[in-house]
Amino acid sequence: MTAEAAVTTLLPIPLKLESCPCPACASRDCTGLLAFDSFGFPIRTVECDGCGQVYSNPRPTRAYLEEFYASNYLYFYEGVRGISPQYVRRHRLEELAAIRLRRYADYLSPQTRLLDVGCGSGLFLAAVRRHFHETAVGGIDPDPSAATFCRQQLGLAVQQGFFEAYGASERWDVISAFHVLEHLQDLPAFFESVRRNLRPGGLVFAECPNLDGSWRGIGMFHLAHLQAFSPRTLGNLFRRFGFQVLAVEAIEHPLDPSNLFLVAAAPARPGSGLPVRDTAESERIRLRCRHIHALRPARIGRTWAKWAYRRLREHLLQPGEGN
Ligand SMILES: [Zn+2]
Repeated sequence: MTAEAAVTTLLPIPLKLESCPCPACASRDCTGLLAFDSFGFPIRTVECDGCGQVYSNPRPTRAYLEEFYASNYLYFYEGVRGISPQYVRRHRLEELAAIRLRRYADYLSPQTRLLDVGCGSGLFLAAVRRHFHETAVGGIDPDPSAATFCRQQLGLAVQQGFFEAYGASERWDVISAFHVLEHLQDLPAFFESVRRNLRPGGLVFAECPNLDGSWRGIGMFHLAHLQAFSPRTLGNLFRRFGFQVLAVEAIEHPLDPSNLFLVAAAPARPGSGLPVRDTAESERIRLRCRHIHALRPARIGRTWAKWAYRRLREHLLQPGEGN
């Protein structure tokens, strides 16, 4: 059982938090790294004493996050009520999709059927379809505005919803999940859904922030990021669920800094146990978290939280307008 508590913060929606075990190995032994997130909310970041996974504990409850993603996420982080052509231009999403396509092109062919989980603007799917001449692609995203944009602007078959409940009549050759894993409350449920929807021998492409990359400040630690991966912990997670890791590398592109990408082949073997934490990696990450503490965290938190509060309150008072 997890202990659940509603926390009064500057958020107009009370934050509901629960304590949790390590999302990778289920151990309850952990060491605190940060006592607050980038908005000043009392979401602690901890490191598992067993496997070294870094995660939020306490974290927002599932019910809280479902409502948050369905109605507030995009406005809270980006200040827009929906994905639009202006949003795509401002964030240079076409360029990012082209970079991504180059990264994975060697693993794809015109016959590849690809599903993008958390597909957002859908531009990666559109780039794959264009490059491989109308190959079959599909997507799923919990944000209704993302699914609508993909369908109406790009003519893509994209469903609105969570991947755990996804089921198609045919299995996919590739499942991609870019900046999804760090948001998930239930990692075993994600891998179960991959197993159900990926053909035997199929591939997974995954990207997420790199905890051991070039990041500075506290931006990576916030209420929607429930775990943070290093190249080591990301690879270990896929091995635990029986995947063969073909590549796991740091990304340090000017448009895409301090991230990781992974390519893994579908389960052909029983999952392996998780190795113990790496002392040198752990020391690097602890040192950086201590540095964040030294940066007047209360002031950083208050500034961010006030900004977030203003944004979200405006959104709640005037829903339904375009960007
Ligand atoms: Zn662990």
